[in-house]
Amino acid sequence: MVSGKPSYLIVGSGVFGVSTAYHLIKRYPDASVTLVDRDRYDGERRVAASWDWNKVVRADYGDLVYCRLALEAQDVFRCDPLWQPYFHETGIYWMCRSSGYAHDVIDNYERLGRNADLSAVPVDEARKMYGGLFDDADYTGVEEVLVNRTSGWAAAGDCLAAITRTAVELGVKYVTGEIAGLRFDDRGRCCGVKTATGETWTASHVILCTGAFTPKLLELSAESSGLTDLRAGSRILAGGITTALTQLDDDSYERFAAMPVGVQGYTAKIGPFIGSLPPTKDRELKWWGQTIFKNTRQVLPGRHISIPPPEPDYAQWYVPGRLKEDIHYANKVFYGKKGANWKLEKYRICWDAFTTSSDFIISPHPASKGLYVATCGSFHGWKFFPVLGKYVLQMLEGSLSPELAEKWAWDRERPDPSLNPDWPRAEMKDLLDPVDRTSKL
Ligand SMILES: Cc1cc2nc3c(=O)[nH]c(=O)nc-3n(C[C@H](O)[C@H](O)[C@H](O)COP(=O)(O)OP(=O)(O)OC[C@H]3O[C@@H](n4cnc5c(N)ncnc54)[C@H](O)[C@@H]3O)c2cc1C
Repeated sequence: MVSGKPSYLIVGSGVFGVSTAYHLIKRYPDASVTLVDRDRYDGERRVAASWDWNKVVRADYGDLVYCRLALEAQDVFRCDPLWQPYFHETGIYWMCRSSGYAHDVIDNYERLGRNADLSAVPVDEARKMYGGLFDDADYTGVEEVLVNRTSGWAAAGDCLAAITRTAVELGVKYVTGEIAGLRFDDRGRCCGVKTATGETWTASHVILCTGAFTPKLLELSAESSGLTDLRAGSRILAGGITTALTQLDDDSYERFAAMPVGVQGYTAKIGPFIGSLPPTKDRELKWWGQTIFKNTRQVLPGRHISIPPPEPDYAQWYVPGRLKEDIHYANKVFYGKKGANWKLEKYRICWDAFTTSSDFIISPHPASKGLYVATCGSFHGWKFFPVLGKYVLQMLEGSLSPELAEKWAWDRERPDPSLNPDWPRAEMKDLLDPVDRTSKL
């Protein structure tokens, strides 16, 4: 039994975990707040989806709630000197195939009383914008282009490290370690964690911000505790997506340096949206691919769930040929002949936790008091980094609005995944190079 002053053990230092730690320590400077992750926060390479060269920061949502939250987060990126250096307001150029998407976004800005430079532009006119950077793109089925000059991108890994460092300076304890399972007292209350090296750490509040690893951690903890309701079941699915970069030469850099974020939007029938991000300070332009896949494995006898590969680095730098092709395809549908000679490099598979509705889970875990879940970015969670922790705190204190509590609940009605274009559909084993099929399974 954990007694006395509340203590917070946050497992996972991606955007959900770090934002929670930051907001907790700002609100309660004397609180005991520990962030634990298998990777160092300033490590050169990490498995976190939140650790990346760059991420899109936009409020271009047809869903009013995420539009509002994204604008709230952008206000912080624009106004708070701690966050400002990482945000680049380059604009976004979104080729829309879903009927009315651009207008839904524009309506949401209006409903929220936001004046911003955004419009739905006819394709012919849009092709000439930004010096014609996207005039070779594939416009098949595109109805119009949403151009929002107030969206952009963030230097994701740098920002994550900086906010973590600030949280540590404010009093958060950062510990590296692999968490192998949860600990429970004799009444089934969660009272801490066990590490892979056999240590145990206790806390009155254990908050899982473990991204794609969450279903596995819950599965292992259910097995060791006998609390079978801990399992995520169909609520959470670990899914992977390929990204890659190209380093631009001087001529291309001059042309693309001021480009907006590019998005090819599709319908659920065709597939997920794909994107391309403007060059970083190292002149590297990025894409993500259109195949979103799961990796179903047996984690315990008779228990099959999707998990990131078991290697300590999630084997994220091993990218099979078929997934490399994804990025070549993305290059072609954005830049056509302009990008034909670019050398694609730094392929990576990034793992995230998905829900069928693409909503986060920010909720007490009903199977055990003292246990909370705050993750499931569902391929769009990074941009909310500055404000996620504010809402996790509200969840911990029971003051989340009924609307958000219901949207982010552990138990709620969930839509059929066939309606979700970004739902992981392929299986990783079917995408491996033939020679690796036996060794990687
Ligand atoms: C390819 C790709 C592109 C994306 N692009 C965007 C974008 O442009 N804009 C946007 O807003 N969002 C984007 N997202 C989504 C966004 O990155 C994620 O939703 C978000 O980062 C998830 O944050 P998280 O904190 O839940 O998980 P993570 O960032 O994955 O962090 C989880 C952490 O938990 C740690 N952990 C897990 N298990 C254990 C354990 N057992 N022991 C110790 N530590 C553990 C991991 O090491 C990791 O650091 C993208 C996602 C992907 C995959």
